[in-house]
Amino acid sequence: MEPIRKVGIIGAGQMGSGIAHVVALSGYDVALHDVAKEKIDAAIATIDKNLTRQVASGKISEDEKKKALARISYAETLQALADADLVVEAATEDETVKRKIFVALCPYLKPDAIIGTNTSSISITRLAAATDRPERFIGLHFMNPAPVMELVEMIRGIATDDVTFGRTKSFVETLHKTVAVSEDFPAFMVNRILLPMINEAVYTLYEGVGTVDAIDTAMRLGAHHPMGPLQLADFIGLDTCLSIMQVLYEGLADSKYRPCPLLVKYVEAGWLGRKTKRGFYDYRGEKPMPTR
Ligand code: NAD
Repeated sequence: MEPIRKVGIIGAGQMGSGIAHVVALSGYDVALHDVAKEKIDAAIATIDKNLTRQVASGKISEDEKKKALARISYAETLQALADADLVVEAATEDETVKRKIFVALCPYLKPDAIIGTNTSSISITRLAAATDRPERFIGLHFMNPAPVMELVEMIRGIATDDVTFGRTKSFVETLHKTVAVSEDFPAFMVNRILLPMINEAVYTLYEGVGTVDAIDTAMRLGAHHPMGPLQLADFIGLDTCLSIMQVLYEGLADSKYRPCPLLVKYVEAGWLGRKTKRGFYDYRGEKPMPTR
């Protein structure tokens, strides 16, 4: 099995930047692509800040930080990913967006290059069908924040071959992450369980059972969750949460997955959580303030 040396990453948002951080720190060359150049600048600044934090806490040395940063380059076009052994797609959770990326990307790739998608919920088999290499396509679901969380869910599509699974699994293990294998069903394992809980928390708010603060306090102190569900929703991004609920609702055709209308309203308002500085909390001041 050919080892993976160079990794292309598409989408430099919270996940793409976190994955670039982890992959570069593990010694791989990384080429980072986004439609918006300012996302690349923001991603590099975030990676720099988070590496600095790791240096300060003694997890890595200053030299490792410098080397990791030097391994990350900006890929202005998809063509610049032509020499990648693996491309990880971490663009917006929207099937049309992802399909368009794969159609545009495939003609440039080496024949044996693998495509991994970081989708939280969309069918791997269906996304693979938009590529010229369904057998070398795989779900590679990093958790947020990628530099901190230990798990990567791996999902094979119907056509994913054993070599692709093996090469990708070996790669993930070099990142010091643990793999959990999921079958290709809507939202896989982690989000199939996590997102209905978040959606239920939004219903709990919508129906006036509790305030934002009361709901989050209840789950933090009452269930020992490190973050309350609404705080977690803001952290994930409310657009991503809504997309995952829609995939569950449509993919499993069960009304128990109906996205809460209040979640829809927040997304329509452009209040997407931390990344837009407003969601269930307002992050524009010194301290997050509940918006309801
Ligand atoms: P984000 O909104 O922070 O970032 C998405 C990025 O994709 C943006 O920078 C955007 O400019 C870029 N983009 C959009 N269209 C593009 C295109 N055509 N070509 C290149 N770049 C494009 O979102 P995120 O939270 O980083 O999520 C990215 C992916 O990771 C999604 O599939 C999401 O479901 C998945 N994911 C998210 C989380 C989470 O907690 N947020 C966790 C695991 C997986």
